[in-house]
This record gives sequence, structure tokens and C-alpha cells, in this order.
Amino acid sequence: MSDYYDVLGVSRDASAEDIKRAYRKLARKLHPDVTDDPEAGDRFKEVSQAYETLSNPDKRALYDRGGGQQPGAAGFGAGFGFSDIMDAFFGQGAGAGGRGPASRTQRGQDALIRVDVDLAEAAFGAERSIQVDTAVLCPTCKGTCCQPGTSPQTCDICHGQGQVQRVVRSLLGQVMTTAPCPTCHGFGTVLPSPCQECSGEGRVRARRPLTIRIPAGVDTGTRIQLAAQGEVGTAGGPPGDLYVEVHERPHPVFTRSGDDLHCTLEVPMTAAALGASIPLETLDGTEAVEVRPGAQPGEQVTLRARGVEHLRSTGRGDLVVTLEVRTPRDLDDEQESLLRRLAELRGEVRPAGTLQPAHQGVFSKLRDRFSGR
Ligand code: ZN
Repeated sequence: MSDYYDVLGVSRDASAEDIKRAYRKLARKLHPDVTDDPEAGDRFKEVSQAYETLSNPDKRALYDRGGGQQPGAAGFGAGFGFSDIMDAFFGQGAGAGGRGPASRTQRGQDALIRVDVDLAEAAFGAERSIQVDTAVLCPTCKGTCCQPGTSPQTCDICHGQGQVQRVVRSLLGQVMTTAPCPTCHGFGTVLPSPCQECSGEGRVRARRPLTIRIPAGVDTGTRIQLAAQGEVGTAGGPPGDLYVEVHERPHPVFTRSGDDLHCTLEVPMTAAALGASIPLETLDGTEAVEVRPGAQPGEQVTLRARGVEHLRSTGRGDLVVTLEVRTPRDLDDEQESLLRRLAELRGEVRPAGTLQPAHQGVFSKLRDRFSGR
């Protein structure tokens, strides 16, 4: 195991400030967000581990006595988390409510954007290029918040403590209270010349293109999480996540019910009676809908696995086709006589003309009512 002092490049009698400065310098060079060097990740872990121990007076004393690696360093084992980095980066007291100065560096917020997709994209997945508008690291100061060539200075008022003590008179006599330092706003440092591009925040807003993969099976309301693509934090803090909320545009033909699709298909009366194979334009191209002889209005034909792909499992929903039987109109003479002949053969009407009395029957009842019988 390398010596922690060597890792940070400081002498064994280095002050806390020296150690912090050395670590920040290395971290800025090795942070996974700023370098593509494949070995930087491991170096960064090593450096952070060394800093975590040496920045803590108790752990440092133990280390100096030969106490070795601290259990706290285990947090860097598998994919170290942001809080580990933050703790290591800014030492003790960075947390809310803790004693000592507050850190300018905060994790950025999560961001949410909406993306409209059409049914085919939702069903099969898609790649989309989107524009994301978030805070990004300030290109001028790289998150230091200072004009290039300058650096934060320890606050003269609180001497870097971030808080000031006041004596307050009360009924019980004089009481000491602590309050955030009004000069440095609790940070313990002041910026003699804040970066002009970001006004000393260490980040600026920018629009950037992002290619996202929309998985098959998404629906309106599905949120896709993109780690670390949200708002960059203040003073070089790590970014939050980006959530992409899917909104599916209505389709002119198909409606969606879970992963099943529904549509209606107009079927001529003759096809419904005789049976037919009717072509239907589906998401998978033209498919034949098999209408059985004697099909009834409202009857459903299911095309298996022609719906939307399941989001969390394999397989697909179905396409359910509801038949809408169309009665022919505008019959020409020949068609009409054929239908009459058919009706006679099926015994569904009495010979021509006998429908008349049925209608008259209705009128005669009305007439009877009006005449008071
Ligand atoms: Zn800046």
C-alpha cells in the first residue's frame, strides 16, 4: 500500500491547509468528469482515500502511529458513491448542521424533461437526439468560482470557521450563540475576485445535445433515468440525474391498453357472411385478418404478439381487431334483386310488397290514438 503522504505529494509535517490544497489540485486533474485517462479513476480513488485519512486529525494521528488503512476507506471499494467523494473532498463538517465551514460545493439537482414519442417508437424502442438545458461546469473557472489566477481566501472575520460567536444578553444573563459568518456566508472563505462568467457559482447554464435510447415498451408517464446528466452542482459539485419522461402521441388507428393494441376493421356484409382474409396495416407491416364465415358485428380477431413489446420482460402484447360489419347501401337494381332473392331463399321476408302493411301498422296505431279509439 502506498504511503498516503506520498500519494498526495506532501511532507509528513504538512498543515491541514497544505493537504487540502494538494488534494484539490490532484482531484481536479483526476476527477472522472474531467479526464478520459483510464487510469485516472484508480488514482482518484487512491488520492481520495489518502485525503480522507490525512484530513481527519484523529485518523491522521492513528495513521502516523502506524494504524494503517482506515475502515472508512472501504467505501471506495465498488463504485464509490458521491457522498464518499464529497466527504473526502471537503473533509469533516461539510455536512449540513455540522460544525465548521459549509462547502460551496453541492451536488446538483435532478432535471426532468419530456419527450414525445409515437406508437412505433414506444412499441419497439428508439434512439433520439434531444437538447438538454442544464447547469454545466463553468468553462472559465472549471468550478473554482474564482477568476483564473486567483483563489479563495480564508475569511478574516471568522478565520475560516464559517461561523461567528456572539454574546447575547438575555434574562438568564449573557449567552454565547453561534451564527453563520455574515462576511463569507458560512463558507469560511471569500472570493477576492469571483469568476465573471459564472458570477462565482462555478457553473453556467448551457444547452447541449444528448442521444438517448428509449427502451421498447415505454408508455406515457414512463421515466428513463440517466445518471449524472442533470444539473451540475455549485463549485464543481457532481451533477444530479436526468429523468426523461415519455409522452406517447395518439395514433390515428390504434389505441393502447397496456401492451395490447386495439383497432376496428370495417368488413363488408358479404365478407362477414362468406368469410374473408382482409389486409390490415399493422406496426409490423401488412397482416391478414382472418374473418370467419358468419362473423358478427363487434366480434374480435386477435393477432398474437402484434402489440407493444413488454418493458420488463420478453414478449409482446396482442393486436385486437374489432369487426365492424358494414351494411351495403346505394344498391343498384341488380344488387337489390339479388339481395331480395337471398332474403326469400332464407325465408327472412315475405314476398315483395308485404313489408308495406307493417309500416302501415305503425301509422294506423298512431291514427287510432289521435282519433281517440
Ligand atoms: Zn466560473
